Amino acid sequence: MDKEIRYKKRARKQSVRRLILAATAALFAGIIGGVCTLYSDKLLAPKAETLLADTKTYALSPSSPHRSLQSIVIDAGHGGKDPGSVFEDIYESNINLEIAKEVAALLKSRSYQVIMTREGDVNVSLKERVDVANKSNADLFISIHQNSLKNDTVIHGMETWYNDRMNKASGKFAEYIQQEVASVTQAKNRGLRANQSLIVLKGVSMPACLIETGFITNPQERKLLLSAAYRKQVAQGIVSAIDKYFGNKQETISSSPSDTLPVDANMEPVPLSGKYLDMVVGKRAFVDLKAGDKIVYLTIDDGPCDSTPRLLEVLDRYDVKATFFVTAQYLSEDQIVKQLGQISARGHAVAVHTYSHQYGSIYQSVDSYLKDYKKMDDLIVKATGKRSPLFRFPGGSNTGYNKKIRAELISEMNSRGLIYHDWNAFNGDTDGLIKEQMISKAVTESSYKNKSVLLIHDTPGKKDVIDTLPSIILKLREKGYRFDVLDETVKPIQFESVQK
Ligand SMILES: [Zn+2]
Repeated sequence: MDKEIRYKKRARKQSVRRLILAATAALFAGIIGGVCTLYSDKLLAPKAETLLADTKTYALSPSSPHRSLQSIVIDAGHGGKDPGSVFEDIYESNINLEIAKEVAALLKSRSYQVIMTREGDVNVSLKERVDVANKSNADLFISIHQNSLKNDTVIHGMETWYNDRMNKASGKFAEYIQQEVASVTQAKNRGLRANQSLIVLKGVSMPACLIETGFITNPQERKLLLSAAYRKQVAQGIVSAIDKYFGNKQETISSSPSDTLPVDANMEPVPLSGKYLDMVVGKRAFVDLKAGDKIVYLTIDDGPCDSTPRLLEVLDRYDVKATFFVTAQYLSEDQIVKQLGQISARGHAVAVHTYSHQYGSIYQSVDSYLKDYKKMDDLIVKATGKRSPLFRFPGGSNTGYNKKIRAELISEMNSRGLIYHDWNAFNGDTDGLIKEQMISKAVTESSYKNKSVLLIHDTPGKKDVIDTLPSIILKLREKGYRFDVLDETVKPIQFESVQK
């Protein structure tokens, strides 16, 4: 239970005032579950005190003519002198802020630009929230709230409010928010609510919606909302909906510089360094995920080793095709070629990770990287008869080991048409987790995105990892995912582009 969310009881007088406002708002909206009171038209005029908002709390980035990131305004409802819904010593405003911060962190880690209407427990008027949003010229606006209902502790669940008179796309955005948050949290789905009177939704120009995550007056939901793990799930649902929103708008994606191909798909790749001229692959074009498609790309790093045959058996049994980013650390070259042949023959993809897996020496220079890469690439060609267009940097593209040569190295690899894949989900098998933890981490991290690139390792003595695979596969299939192999048509998950 979080201390920040519990505050001293408020004066009785204020509660009575709030009760009256709540009743008015409920009438206004014509619903049983009250939407947070301060959003009704009754309170259109900001009170004098709320105009004294601390403007330093706005994380407004200077507007740039070359904005390459999609930007989202996150509005944590209420704050400061306005706690929103109150139950005993629990303030809605604090729960809203905690969820908003979680959403902001997740969005930033996924290359979005974030604008928050408040970052602390401060007063910000509704008009100021609208102004911040409209001045930021952001792509989306989401307001985060909690519901409450006097005299009914049974009602619970989440709902999303929108006003598509301002922006036609708001309905679609609200729908995704409602779907994704309900699916990640398993909260009761109370559905979408169109409404023309909520001030923030009426005022902002971009597609917008307002989520009422749950009822703090319902004991079970209150307990959930007070747990950091649940708030994180809510945030994951919101972020997943935002991904989905942009993912389905193909014209936005292809015109966004952060999403352009590393190499112009219409140009023949030409290596910058002029070395290893056979290590080049031809033109390609990425294909977008179909709407509603949910894919897990299981990626298996560091093998082959003595346990690879068992791993292959499990994958066969569950009919899962995976992508192996391979090394030459554990077996003789002959054995490796044999194993890689097996992996490929069973329908999995084989791609370069590294020959030696010695970060220190590989990343000394672009040259030493290419030299190590070439050795592994040659073994793959020998085993499978073809060169893989895909690879994975040892330690990921943003490892501290490649910092000095990173930019040069990435353009070198891009210039060859070779596509590097990082990951966006991990089973934690190098973090000393027990089986149950690995399963839950892999499933949770995969299941708040439509396209999961899930990293696991195939290294000697990691029997547990193989044991956890059936559960991970079944749980993700239950959630509607299918498994597939990476190929040159899949737009890669890349850490480096995230950081630009
Ligand atoms: Zn590795």
